[in-house]
Amino acid sequence: MPLSSSLTRPLLNPRKIACFSATLGLLFFLLSALIALLLVAQHRANNHDKLAKRSQDYVQNLFDELKQNLLPLQTLPHLSCDAVKDTLTRHTAVNENIQTIWLVDNNQAWCSSTTDEMQQDIHRLSPETDTRKAIDIRLVAATPLAPEKPALELWLKGDEAGKGVLVTLGINLTPYLLYTAGQHEINGMAIITGDKAITSWEQRFVSSHSLPANPLRTIMLPGYPFQLAIYGDRLSVGDINIVLLVGLLLGLTGGFSSLLVMTQYWRPGREILQGIRRGEFHVEYQPVIAAVSGDVCGLEALLRWTHPVAGAIPPDSFIRYAENKNLIVPLTRHLFELVARDCHELRHEIPAGTGLNLNLSPAHLSDKEFYHDVTRWLEAMPQNHFSYVFEITERTMVETRNAQDIFDWLRSKNIRIALDDFGTGHSALIYLEKFRFDYLKIDRGFVKNIARESFTSPVLDAVLALAKKLNLHTVAEGVETGEQARWLRHRGVCHFQGFLFSRPRTVAQLIEYFQRPPAPVES
Ligand code: C2E
Ligand code: CA
Ligand code: CA
Repeated sequence: MPLSSSLTRPLLNPRKIACFSATLGLLFFLLSALIALLLVAQHRANNHDKLAKRSQDYVQNLFDELKQNLLPLQTLPHLSCDAVKDTLTRHTAVNENIQTIWLVDNNQAWCSSTTDEMQQDIHRLSPETDTRKAIDIRLVAATPLAPEKPALELWLKGDEAGKGVLVTLGINLTPYLLYTAGQHEINGMAIITGDKAITSWEQRFVSSHSLPANPLRTIMLPGYPFQLAIYGDRLSVGDINIVLLVGLLLGLTGGFSSLLVMTQYWRPGREILQGIRRGEFHVEYQPVIAAVSGDVCGLEALLRWTHPVAGAIPPDSFIRYAENKNLIVPLTRHLFELVARDCHELRHEIPAGTGLNLNLSPAHLSDKEFYHDVTRWLEAMPQNHFSYVFEITERTMVETRNAQDIFDWLRSKNIRIALDDFGTGHSALIYLEKFRFDYLKIDRGFVKNIARESFTSPVLDAVLALAKKLNLHTVAEGVETGEQARWLRHRGVCHFQGFLFSRPRTVAQLIEYFQRPPAPVES
């Protein structure tokens, strides 16, 4: 697996991002559809209110006008019908809704727009009309003029009991339906008087109880004993389509934006910088043990990254990843900061002169700010307490051109240099010849093979002999057993580092380690 992918895998899992984005898209869809639904419903409700108001005004005007025009008729002198009939006929001609007008006196219809002189009991003419009321409105199934069509009978009481005007009005809901045609969700209306109703979808009389429940709006007319009910859907099909379209558009936008942002934003490169800002890094320290005395003579600082989502990320992965993404310089600067902060705390617990080993990366060594960074770090550290060692791998050497100048400068600052992971590369011997080191760290790959006292390793023997000849201190890494420690001590290795003595420790664990040292390891 390429190095970078070992880091990116836990962070940049495309399936996770896709799932998250899809869920977010769905949420966006639901949320925006809901908001659009509420807005459209509100808009529709406003329209229905306006429509109800306009209908109310329209019908109110209609009846007010009728009242105004017809009521004076009851004051016509009760002479002969011929004398007033023209007036009645004129009124029916002028108002298209009026079918017939009767003049009533003493509850007797004595003249109408369609007949001559007459004498008919009003209660026979319109059995349900209550002449005691100032205004009464009744629905009738048919009239003599239009036997097929239901009509409204309007009674307008005059200034005496049993005196007034009775009018039959043809009901034509077509203009109303045309008027509401712009509102696609309106599909009918009903006129209701008492327990009778006439609807726009059925041109006959129905019981008001058989009308659909929950009309969109019910309109009362103050002063007139009847109601108008408007029927329809609260939302039209077009409205639902708009809501779905808005939801879909915003859902897709949200989902894709999340996909875009997450793939950009969760790039591990950025994550590292973000991790620095958010304080996700800390340093653990692994004791370095003097082989002969068994005392702690140094500490190796090892960087740790606890990512909030991916958890602990192996340093091998994120260090190399940071190197590849040109982020090792800010990361090492951060390491310097963390170590300086920790050491101010540790210096009270740790004997003066203890070695402090830091791992340095090639890219930082070659960086023009390197000297400046190291100088600042040295200033930030507790003064005259730790002795510093920078660990540099063979890989580091390959990529650093002016290594000798850098080493000389570091030594001038009392920083010694260790060649780390010795034996894992191909050209280590050349570097040993070319540069002067203070320590040689024998890679744990060599150490782990040491299984018993009688173990032989010509290569390791040669390495140790070489180190002796070059006057280098040796540190054996990854010492896990007493046999390994004995074997190495027997061959003159100066320092040990490994789980046999201690795993890397947090500051708190290290303080405890120094306050209550563990029993000496049998080795
Ligand atoms: P390294 O410099 O060789 O560090 C020693 C590694 O060996 C550490 O692994 C340590 O936990 C592990 N180790 C110590 N004793 C034993 C043992 O007895 N058995 C076994 N199996 N392992 C042992 P860690 O902390 O995972 O670090 C891995 C590598 O990451 C380091 O190898 C070093 O190359 C790099 N690294 C860690 N911190 C830093 C840093 O601050 N800067 C740079 N540039 N590299 C770092
Ligand atoms: Ca090291
Ligand atoms: Ca090493």
